[in-house]
Amino acid sequence: MHNFNAGPSILPKEVFQEASKAILDFNNTGLSILEIGHRTPLFEGVLNEAVSLLKELMSLDSNKEVLFLHGGASTQFFQIPMNLLAEGKTAAYLDCGVWGSKAIKEAKLFGNVNVVASSKDKNYSYIPTGYEIPSDVSYFHYTTNNTIEGTEMHSIPQTNVPLIADMSSDILSTVMDFNKFSLIYAGAQKNIGAAGVNILVIDKNIVGLAGRKLPTMMDYKSHIDNGSMLNTPPVFAVYVCMLTLRWLKKIGGVAAIEKINDQKASLLYNTLDALPMFNLPVAKEDRSKMNVVFTISDPEVEKAFLQTCKDNGMYGVKGHRSVGGFRASLYNALPLESVQALCGLIKDFATKKG
Ligand code: PMP
Repeated sequence: MHNFNAGPSILPKEVFQEASKAILDFNNTGLSILEIGHRTPLFEGVLNEAVSLLKELMSLDSNKEVLFLHGGASTQFFQIPMNLLAEGKTAAYLDCGVWGSKAIKEAKLFGNVNVVASSKDKNYSYIPTGYEIPSDVSYFHYTTNNTIEGTEMHSIPQTNVPLIADMSSDILSTVMDFNKFSLIYAGAQKNIGAAGVNILVIDKNIVGLAGRKLPTMMDYKSHIDNGSMLNTPPVFAVYVCMLTLRWLKKIGGVAAIEKINDQKASLLYNTLDALPMFNLPVAKEDRSKMNVVFTISDPEVEKAFLQTCKDNGMYGVKGHRSVGGFRASLYNALPLESVQALCGLIKDFATKKG
């Protein structure tokens, strides 16, 4: 099988192997990872290693805290404004896709939202430029990679206000200055590990910005003070993240994986660009390296292509239910060989049907 699923998605084979061993016998303890207490040196070792690997791979400075939380990236859509946007204050948002628009909806529950630009007019097929971020807003929020629409922001916006990014679908795929962000969040289930845990990188200086009284579980400060152990963390999901981060470090870190990701994305885009049967709806300069979206105009041919993918062990190539067409996700753990196999199939299909 070649797994192009958008998430949960492919992880490195050695992570699957290690994780399955640990379910039966974790580190030769005679205990399963599923039955160890979270407040034991056994699990503390896992969590500490995951935190330090993430700090190292992202070259984070000492102001940054790393948290492993529950609730997925969607919880951050409201937890961010709850913690950082005071009533009567304004936050700026870029509206670039389905996930970003959900974040905007939730922020409006807590304060004012200034949508500085939107690409909704063209089905989110491009990233807007030329917008201004006011200097008096509490923060600026955007989505680095739009998983559904297949667009990706290839540079960091310039601003003096705290920068917040949803990096769920491209975190650790490309070298960037992660220290420019006051808060980064990502559901783990694409580039970092198993579903069930959410990664947060937060600048200690912005904690409590909203000045609002919060339920303990919603308050970033209480999670930081308790080192992601305010309550029972998702032990197994954190363990899988730690194994995936270990793998990434071993293969050379973000710079090494970026090279492979570039190769995979250009191979697939070049193949599709050369074949008139396939349409690529996304503006060329905004194409995502993680989620390649394409369509076929004839619905009958589209059906036949999907069937050909199924027959040849290409899993997860169907587009998101809201946009249709196709989407091949090329996350960090997807080998180049899978993209080569898909490109071979695409060329064969076009020759037969074209
Ligand atoms: N943001 C982005 C960019 C996503 O791709 C997703 C999920 N695919 C989410 C947020 C929502 O994540 P979760 O399901 O972990 O809440």
